[in-house]
Amino acid sequence: MTDTDSHIGWQFDTHYTQLPEPFYTRIDPVPVQNPQLVMLNHALADTLGLTLNNVPDASLAQLFAGNRLPQAASPLAQAYAGHQFGHFSMLGDGRAHLLGEHRTPQGERVDIQLKGSGRTPYARRGDGRAALGPMLREYIISEAMHALGVPTTRSLAVVTTGEIVLRETALPGAVLTRVAASHVRVGTFEYAAQLQDITALQALADYAIARHFPHLAESTEPYADLLETVMDRQITLVTHWLRIGFIHGVMNTDNMAISGETIDYGPCAFMDAYDPATVFSSIDRGGRYAYANQPHIAGWNLARLAEALLPLLHPDQTQAIKQAEEILGQFNSRFQTNWLGMMRCKLGLLSDEPEDAPLIGELLQWMQKNGADYTNTFRALSMGEANEEDPEFAEWHTRWQKRLSGNPKPQHEAYAKMLRTNPAIIPRNHQVEKALRAAENDGDFSVFNALVETLATPYDTPASSAYTTPPKPEERVYQTFCGT
Ligand code: AMP
Ligand code: MG
Repeated sequence: MTDTDSHIGWQFDTHYTQLPEPFYTRIDPVPVQNPQLVMLNHALADTLGLTLNNVPDASLAQLFAGNRLPQAASPLAQAYAGHQFGHFSMLGDGRAHLLGEHRTPQGERVDIQLKGSGRTPYARRGDGRAALGPMLREYIISEAMHALGVPTTRSLAVVTTGEIVLRETALPGAVLTRVAASHVRVGTFEYAAQLQDITALQALADYAIARHFPHLAESTEPYADLLETVMDRQITLVTHWLRIGFIHGVMNTDNMAISGETIDYGPCAFMDAYDPATVFSSIDRGGRYAYANQPHIAGWNLARLAEALLPLLHPDQTQAIKQAEEILGQFNSRFQTNWLGMMRCKLGLLSDEPEDAPLIGELLQWMQKNGADYTNTFRALSMGEANEEDPEFAEWHTRWQKRLSGNPKPQHEAYAKMLRTNPAIIPRNHQVEKALRAAENDGDFSVFNALVETLATPYDTPASSAYTTPPKPEERVYQTFCGT
């Protein structure tokens, strides 16, 4: 251990390397020319038990660029597969390096991964690098998601590399340090299944259970329980996404983490005006990953996970399929129950009444018809503000008020619940784009930093309306790009 290492407080203890060989390739990051630290998440560093305050920026830049590694790191690229827009491919970390599993002071185990850190054997035609814009985008949105209460990977640091990456144009290169509960994906299981090596598959499943769901180790049917638990985590996750108007954009099976965290922020975006068909990603021409299609796709991805797990469910394939179908058969009703519960919270409905589903549905229909802003409509309701001008809305509002008065608890509790469920501030695309452009084009991080700070307390009513105003027509962002 070097002096800097022991001072920083790394506690690497990596178990992934105990998996069979095909799951990873040991490889170091490719050093970069001139690393400069541009973002450092001090609050997250504290949670991780890392002391970075007294480390010079130049050393931090070397560290988070992958130029100088912590001694106990065991850098590797993970192998995985995935269904991308429905088509199967063998994949892997083409431009990311897992430095290792770090133990936090709370006893949690997190992956520390560099993204944009150079080519690996899985890079195919890619250059192994990342551009600054998309890495800052992942930083700001993942941290906003965390503050919004959504399970997500976190962002610890961004460094610029001093190198240019060639995309449609020449862009500044960057490396993001990502912190995750793990990087095991549905696609990791598909990869294991494709190997047709049941020992390897079982090793992966046992690793996932030990890491994320240790209570299942005692179960008589641990792999069926694994499938069911992952299903429930995904239902919880997608319900959160729908609550805040988030659209992941690339819900390929390689971008779905077994832990239930949101992972791989690419062309993701938040909806302004409510429309269930909203799609931003330039590569999603068919709307496969549209806002309201996300639960369906989560179910589709879980079916791919179930297929991969079949050999572990039962030695007899017919029996195995039957078990998998029994579990997945519960997806729709569990999702509906979850979603309805979430929407009840958004409207302060503190008991379950049969009239709730139509009441919710009619509001959403009205919002869609009128292009109402998703975030601001629910926030206004939470603040006790009402649009009295539209007769249709006024009629709905009267019925809602009547329903609220039937709550078993005092009114203020309903509004308090709503204020905790309906954020005032989300990372609106036009603002994110503005912040990224200033940083990328002019090296001006002030807009970015101000936005990051505001997004850290999304349920507080802001003093100024600067961050809550929907985009003007000329500010509207219609498309987002992977920009890998
Ligand atoms: P993503 O769309 O970022 O989830 O990436 C899909 C796959 O392509 C992953 O296996 C990535 O590692 C790989 N990939 C994306 N961009 C690059 C790049 N610039 N160089 C190498 N591999 C890449
Ligand atoms: Mg990915």
